[in-house]
Amino acid sequence: MSSYTVINPADETEVALVDHLDRDATDEAIARAQLAQRAWAGVSPADKAALLRRFAEAVDGDRENLARIEVQNSGHPITQARWEAGHVRDVLTYYSAAPERMFGQQIPVAGGLDVTFHEPLGVVGIITPWNFPMTIAAWGFAPALAAGNAVLLKPAEWTPLSSIRLGELALEAGLPEGLFQVLPGKGSVVGERFVTHPAVRKVVFTGSTAVGKQIMAGCAAQVKRVTLELGGKSANIVFADADLEKAAATAPYSVFENAGQDCCARSRILVERSAYDRFMELLEPAVAGVRVGDPGDEATEMGPLVSAKHLASVRSYVPEGAPVAFRGTAPEGPGFWFAPTVLTPASRTDRTVTDEIFGPVVTVLPFDDEADAVQLANDTDYGLSGSIWTRDVGRAIRVSRGVEAGNLSVNSHSSVRYSTPFGGFKQSGLGRELGPDAPLHFTETKNVFIAVD
Ligand code: NAP
Ligand code: MG
Repeated sequence: MSSYTVINPADETEVALVDHLDRDATDEAIARAQLAQRAWAGVSPADKAALLRRFAEAVDGDRENLARIEVQNSGHPITQARWEAGHVRDVLTYYSAAPERMFGQQIPVAGGLDVTFHEPLGVVGIITPWNFPMTIAAWGFAPALAAGNAVLLKPAEWTPLSSIRLGELALEAGLPEGLFQVLPGKGSVVGERFVTHPAVRKVVFTGSTAVGKQIMAGCAAQVKRVTLELGGKSANIVFADADLEKAAATAPYSVFENAGQDCCARSRILVERSAYDRFMELLEPAVAGVRVGDPGDEATEMGPLVSAKHLASVRSYVPEGAPVAFRGTAPEGPGFWFAPTVLTPASRTDRTVTDEIFGPVVTVLPFDDEADAVQLANDTDYGLSGSIWTRDVGRAIRVSRGVEAGNLSVNSHSSVRYSTPFGGFKQSGLGRELGPDAPLHFTETKNVFIAVD
């Protein structure tokens, strides 16, 4: 069995040694999950709901600990990490109502009674990335469990600790042994086995578009169900008639939150040409005001990047001589720090405009009119989120309909709520998570006709 040393990204100290599962251990976990799922499918809807609520309560009771784990493992600011732990609780609470509401239909037919059932798929494999380890895991496991499935969760190698803790809390809450198992290991071993093992009936993947394509291709061999939540290069479109003060004050937080390691980051700011100079004047102090530092400090708004490797990747986008308009601050010394950076590239096809940098780097480009704004926003293979700033209601609606992205906000940057659907257009993904329908995505619809004579 191999193992992995987890590093604190804020100071580069060793946090924990985590054993990795190999292929045989993964197969054993899948076999346990199959057994557990058969029993779970037979548990009454009310008892399933009660167990999920107990899981939510266990998470609630452990919130501070989970948050501290995420601070150490991922460098998330403590206030953000507390929100994440609370969000896991809320997602579990929301979907705890689902087992008693898995309504089928009764359809009028001749000669009998016709009804539909939403049958669980069986074993579901969830593969998560390192940027939001526990929240993204919960978006998969809560509705999947509620729909009657067993869940195997493979966390990212760099950030397994909060997921491991969630696995313990599930057991403490009384979830049956084997029903929700956290399997630390390599993507190429444990994650790949979810794709190839026939007993895993659905793969929920969040991560890079490159790996997502491989997983989709692999799942095709068994016509395996798959949900993909992939990258983004989302636009923050600011029209001249907008509340420019508010748009500029909030823009840094729409891209530098979680040090830009957010698939929804509005990493392209598009500003109507007539308001460009004024917007940049307002943006500069807002960027300087982002508090970057010790993630354990309550006042911190942005922590370090997740790893040395990722820091090197982000750095490569801001070489000597890059068109830096202005930068924020970052601590010196150990840790994977990178100051918030605003670029004004000369070309609309510069790689800083087209690539997902996944760090605290934003590009600002001017546009001419509404049509140009929509064209520029859509000039990407991605389509996850975006923001539109304008006081013109008609324009807000037109542009919202015109932008090819799954999650848009007008005069704000909020995009993820557990009660509303989340996911991407184009190469940002396939399928939707969260919202009222998520449990149905972990079921097969079965139609049964019962003859009356
Ligand atoms: P990644 O390399 O694609 O890894 C994601 C997960 O997949 C990790 O758990 C990884 O395991 C695993 N994996 C890697 N190769 C695999 C394979 N061949 N088969 C099965 N699993 C495999 O992405 P990342 O570097 O963790 O995350 C950054 C990217 O994720 C960014 O591009 C970002 O946009 C995207 N992302 C998207 C969303 C969204 O909701 N749309 C959310 C977060 C992140 P290892 O840890 O062993 O590599
Ligand atoms: Mg990777």
